Amino acid sequence: MTAATSHHTPHHTSALVLFSGGQDSTTCLAHALERFPRVETLGFDYGQRHSVELQARLVVLREMRERFPHWADRLGEDHLLDLAVLGKVSETSLTRDMAFRMESSGLPNTFVPGRNLLFLTLAAALAYRRGIQVIVTGVCETDFSGYPDCRDDTMKALQVALSLGMDHRFLIDTPLMWIDKAATWRLAENLGGQALVDLIVEHTHTCYLGDREHRHAWGYGCGRCPACELRARGWERYVGEASNL
Ligand code: ZN
Repeated sequence: MTAATSHHTPHHTSALVLFSGGQDSTTCLAHALERFPRVETLGFDYGQRHSVELQARLVVLREMRERFPHWADRLGEDHLLDLAVLGKVSETSLTRDMAFRMESSGLPNTFVPGRNLLFLTLAAALAYRRGIQVIVTGVCETDFSGYPDCRDDTMKALQVALSLGMDHRFLIDTPLMWIDKAATWRLAENLGGQALVDLIVEHTHTCYLGDREHRHAWGYGCGRCPACELRARGWERYVGEASNL
């Protein structure tokens, strides 16, 4: 390799998006579809109480294909991995019938220790097999629930560990890392216009309680759990900023 080519940014042609069917990962999927000719998606089934999320994944993928034909050509295989083992090593309100509360550690009891470490490791194994270099995930430090496995440093350390451990150059792309929820709505608007914002409102799922009965301006949910509160606050700021322009 010459000095000139060694400074050349490698041309990434494919990406694997960690896709849960929520607002953040759907925005990440649109981000990837704008950038990469081939995009595949990966979800995990770990007995989450909001298994309605797994249904939302399929609906969002279908709607993306229907409403955005230029993205449909790029959207490849969807993968779903069974991670029931996570429910066996954790006891949280996501997998058991428990009330939400903050733990003395300062973390919400929805925290599954190391969950993202496991997700990224499995994503890398799949990406390796599929010949994919870029892994896209919607982790974020800004609207931070205190999950240490969502931190930027954790992602950078994982990128190095996975690249070394599999002897394959992975790039972990985190487009939401430094933006808040209002900016995530704006990013969706920039990527796919009002059509994408409408799709996200109507079809993505965020609510921890799996509520698809109560419709708000920002979408479906109980309106009271931490995930709904975060989504609602971000929407209000996004709409408020737009009307002040
Ligand atoms: Zn909720």
